[in-house]
Amino acid sequence: MATHKPKESIARKISRIFLPLWGIRAGLYITARHLFRKKITVQYPEQKIPIDSTYRAKLSLLFEPGTGADICISCLQCKNICPVECITIIPKVDENKKRHVGTFDVDLSKCLFCGMCEEVCPEFCIVLDPIFDYSSYSRDGLYLTVSGLRREANNAEWESMISCKEVKKRESEAKKKAKEEGEQKQ
Ligand code: SF4
Ligand code: SF4
Repeated sequence: MATHKPKESIARKISRIFLPLWGIRAGLYITARHLFRKKITVQYPEQKIPIDSTYRAKLSLLFEPGTGADICISCLQCKNICPVECITIIPKVDENKKRHVGTFDVDLSKCLFCGMCEEVCPEFCIVLDPIFDYSSYSRDGLYLTVSGLRREANNAEWESMISCKEVKKRESEAKKKAKEEGEQKQ
């Protein structure tokens, strides 16, 4: 049985032909516009775009430049402040009851990169470096021990640590003095 096919209007025929051509023209226009612009694609991982120095990613434990001595005093403040408990510290205590770095592990698969450990550190030696591409195929690969965390402080970091410690020392001395003066007045 013959079926009745509705007749296509002229306007519909024209739009069926010209609409795809309009799309191609728009695509070519965009391509031509970008042809002579500065390229923004980089060949990662050979090339990397600059990351802001304030970007927080991989945790590092800084050691003294030149001597390689640990700056960390194993005070546990970073461990205690960490909201996800991803830092494990077991200090080594010497005969003078001084604490040194013993076990210092960080499970980066849990880390929130909040920076609270960095904020609270009295020695300014735990930092979040802007290294974002340290992925691993296993969770174990993101569990870093001291050897994976240690990094030599650069000169700027070292100088800033010294001046920050000086400021802190002066502040605490001023507070202590004010407290003593207050007690004497009473
Ligand atoms: S950045 Fe935050 S979540 Fe990560 S180890 Fe430090 S305190 Fe814990
Ligand atoms: S807060 Fe700083 S000094 Fe204290 S254990 Fe953590 S990294 Fe070491």
